[in-house]
Amino acid sequence: MAENHNKQKPLIIAGPCSAETEEQMMNTALALKKTEKVDFLRAGIWKPRTRPNSFEGVGEIGLPWLMAASKTTGIPAITEVANRKHVEAALKAGLKHLWIGARTSVNPFAVQEIADALEGTSVAVWVKNPINPDLNLWIGAIERIKNAGIQKVNAIHRGFSAAKSQTYRNEPMWEIPLALKNEFPHLKLICDPSHIGGRRDILSSIAQKAMDLIYDGLMIETHLSPDDAWSDAQQQITPNTLNELIDNLIIRSESILDAGVKKSLNELRTMIDEIDFELLSLIQKRMSIAEEIGAYKKEHHITILQPKRWEEIRQLQLKAGQDKGLTTKFIERYLEAIHQESIRHQTSVMNK
Ligand code: PEP
Ligand code: MN
Repeated sequence: MAENHNKQKPLIIAGPCSAETEEQMMNTALALKKTEKVDFLRAGIWKPRTRPNSFEGVGEIGLPWLMAASKTTGIPAITEVANRKHVEAALKAGLKHLWIGARTSVNPFAVQEIADALEGTSVAVWVKNPINPDLNLWIGAIERIKNAGIQKVNAIHRGFSAAKSQTYRNEPMWEIPLALKNEFPHLKLICDPSHIGGRRDILSSIAQKAMDLIYDGLMIETHLSPDDAWSDAQQQITPNTLNELIDNLIIRSESILDAGVKKSLNELRTMIDEIDFELLSLIQKRMSIAEEIGAYKKEHHITILQPKRWEEIRQLQLKAGQDKGLTTKFIERYLEAIHQESIRHQTSVMNK
């Protein structure tokens, strides 16, 4: 159903990676308040770190700092919980929003422990994707929290650990959060460019991409003096930079209001539809020729797979595709799909 309204300003969760001192917490919150753009104040109290001997969070002592900053500014607070003890301490401090981190959502035992500790409460829970690209694990974590009777469950996309990435700290793999949104259309989907990017210079392009994919909001780490942050220093930005980043976002509308735009778009879409049908007819033609080849191979006892011939086709098509401005990755995926379907058709002829 097309919604007849423009997309609103994204929901913004901002604040330091970690609460460091009472003063840092309060001053960050005050600076964020000034932007008038922040809906939730974040701070990590317990920090799950990859290596020991890194700063592991100030612990429980930081909860009253976060709550004081939240009360003074009127911005609701949110923090990360990883076990029952964290949940109990956070609830006792008065938090109404909790997030589950990527190193926790990966572990069903840990998520279940948190879910059990939350039973009977009315807090909202924001579930970050697990560190590995496993949609079902993410769905499972959300289901465990929902099954504990928690009504308000949202998702945060923070990217996925990859063996080697040139650009990102955590690969975005946008198709996974989009598949999650498909499964749970009513859940709010938030993008965390800070942990995806791992560096300041690409935060705004990641945030823009999320807006164009109709995400509901952004979680962005902010620090008054990012270079001095006790954790995740390279990716934090000042509240002023955050303000600019949000101002520069282009929020495009999902619905098409202008009649002229609608008409031109419809014409182009009709052309696309026609081409899609033509492509299918061509593929069907290709498959019926493949079947003829299959019959011929059967008669002459030749194997279906002819690696040399396939490599020839691949090289020819890769070159032709590149000349037409298509990416190598796309052509490879497309050729692979065509090849597999071709083999399937030939095999069915062989087995007749
Ligand atoms: C964080 O938000 O600071 C954090 C630790 O995130 P993640 O679980 O995504 O690594
Ligand atoms: Mn962080």
